[in-house]
Amino acid sequence: MSPEEPSDHMPKLSPTRYTIVPKQPEAHLFEASCSVDDPDPRGQRFALPAWIPGSYLIRDFARNVVTIRAQSGRRSIPIAKLDKHTWAAAPVEGTLTVTLQVYAWDLSVRGAHLDTSHAFFNGPCVFLRPLGKEARPCEVEILPPRGARYRSWRVATAMRRKLAPSFGFGLYRAASYDELIDHPVEMGGFALAMFEAGGVRHDVAISGRHDADLDRLCSDLSRLCESHIRLYGKPGPVDRYVFLVTAVGKGYGGLEHRASTALLCSRDDLPRLGMRAPSASYRTFLGLCSHEYFHAWNVKRIRPAAFTPYDLEHENYTRLLWAFEGITSYYDDLQLVRSGLISESDYLEILGRSITSLLRTAGRMKQTVEEASFDAWIKYYRPDENSPNAQVSYYLKGSLIGLCLDLIMRKRTRGRKSLDDVMRALWERYGRTGLGVPEDGIEKLAAQVAGTSLWAFFNNALRTTHELPLKQVLATVGVGMQLRTAQSPADQGGKAVTVAAADISAISRRVGLGVRATEDPAGARLTHVLDAGAAQAAGLSAGDVVVAVDGLKVNAENLDQRLARYQPGSIATLHAFRRDELLVVEVKLRASPLDTCTLALVASSRAAARRRRAWLHGKS
Ligand SMILES: [Zn+2]
Repeated sequence: MSPEEPSDHMPKLSPTRYTIVPKQPEAHLFEASCSVDDPDPRGQRFALPAWIPGSYLIRDFARNVVTIRAQSGRRSIPIAKLDKHTWAAAPVEGTLTVTLQVYAWDLSVRGAHLDTSHAFFNGPCVFLRPLGKEARPCEVEILPPRGARYRSWRVATAMRRKLAPSFGFGLYRAASYDELIDHPVEMGGFALAMFEAGGVRHDVAISGRHDADLDRLCSDLSRLCESHIRLYGKPGPVDRYVFLVTAVGKGYGGLEHRASTALLCSRDDLPRLGMRAPSASYRTFLGLCSHEYFHAWNVKRIRPAAFTPYDLEHENYTRLLWAFEGITSYYDDLQLVRSGLISESDYLEILGRSITSLLRTAGRMKQTVEEASFDAWIKYYRPDENSPNAQVSYYLKGSLIGLCLDLIMRKRTRGRKSLDDVMRALWERYGRTGLGVPEDGIEKLAAQVAGTSLWAFFNNALRTTHELPLKQVLATVGVGMQLRTAQSPADQGGKAVTVAAADISAISRRVGLGVRATEDPAGARLTHVLDAGAAQAAGLSAGDVVVAVDGLKVNAENLDQRLARYQPGSIATLHAFRRDELLVVEVKLRASPLDTCTLALVASSRAAARRRRAWLHGKS
């Protein structure tokens, strides 16, 4: 079915009119209506999206619809369900209004959440799509909940106001359904701050209890946003951008939109008054902001052809998520060092941790990054106990492919071209024009920008499970890569460890079970049993609770300490429970793998040092 296209000789189409109100905050119920003036004479159909762009999993938002009714004037109109997310109203002349009650108790960036303290929703959760009328302009009346306790509530969204005060309730508008559902909305008593960067106004709305230093946050975000706009070139893609932040005790997540982002963070991630250098968790939060902001270009406007337009009913398959998520992940941290928010050594530490994380994913030897992209719908968003053995993250490997591509281009073109130029070319060719990027579009454009064939690199990186040439490419910018064994379960790599000379041989002979474990009242609960590890060879499985090693009680915390006394090749007797059955297994311990990466500057040529400065300071 093709949606109507407005044209010169057609009468101006009447907008689809919506209302949304937090009807019963205490029961987590929104009421949302959708009105069309000229319903399909055969019976107007309406649907809710099965998924939300940016999060590639079928979520079936219709599952949270509690009631639905249709009316025309005062007349009640029959409405019947056609499939899991589509309804058809009986044929009617005149304006047809369909009203939903939607349950909203999902405190994630992808859903809708409502209680007496705030309201948040994404359009796909609440706004019906009138089939065949998607291209029409939309108007939404955003209404406050009834009651004195909600009088101080305000509205934060990047949707344009039609008749509403700044941050107020009232009438908002969007050019089409696609745009309507791309502007999440927060209502409540959030804190507000504002800054200008690259000629663009940016608003930050933070809900949830927090004591963030807003001036510091705005000053840091402003440098970051400037740096992104500088990378792609002025003007930026929007004239106003909104960061919608929800601060909670413990949480992490972000979802990109065309002119805003919804972020979930721990309140301790936000900067506190008097903080000097960014804490590790604030660095991570800035990286998240950077990631979602970069998406305003890369995926929201430079879009795969598979998403042009989005099919909101079905999975949209593409092999390019390594680029849309991976290259975005490469730039999110790189732009922090380029904008001076973190030091070069901080950046190398972050990069070392990413490499460690990839090396600890045995699934990289089984799944290519193109396969990971394609199967996001059934794999990445549905991780299980075997995921590290069977899958590779297109975010993680994609970001390191971005690094390799960038450094290879810089070396081969003697510093004349880089991945920055590829991103600018993608922006010019696809972002500004709205054309979808074909599946081979990025490889072709990169080769064109570089003026040399990159086929061998791309083929190896995207379509095989061979290792990436990380050590070689880092050497071209005077960065040395070293591998060692993990020092503890908390050792995520990145940092060099200093050990006394006497301990060095002990470290190199460390043994491991090859598991990931979490605390359990009875002992150490295995969450993952890794391929080629001692535990797997001995027959232990995810879900088993290890209670003793050679007769001594263990838990997730002291398991490693206990094992540190053994030598590779020695045998330990483990007691474990699988369900309620006691297992006694002999485990032949193996040396821990060299899967922990440290990066450091090494003595290098002047050309390498020059390339490193250009790379870390954002010059081709
Ligand atoms: Zn992303």
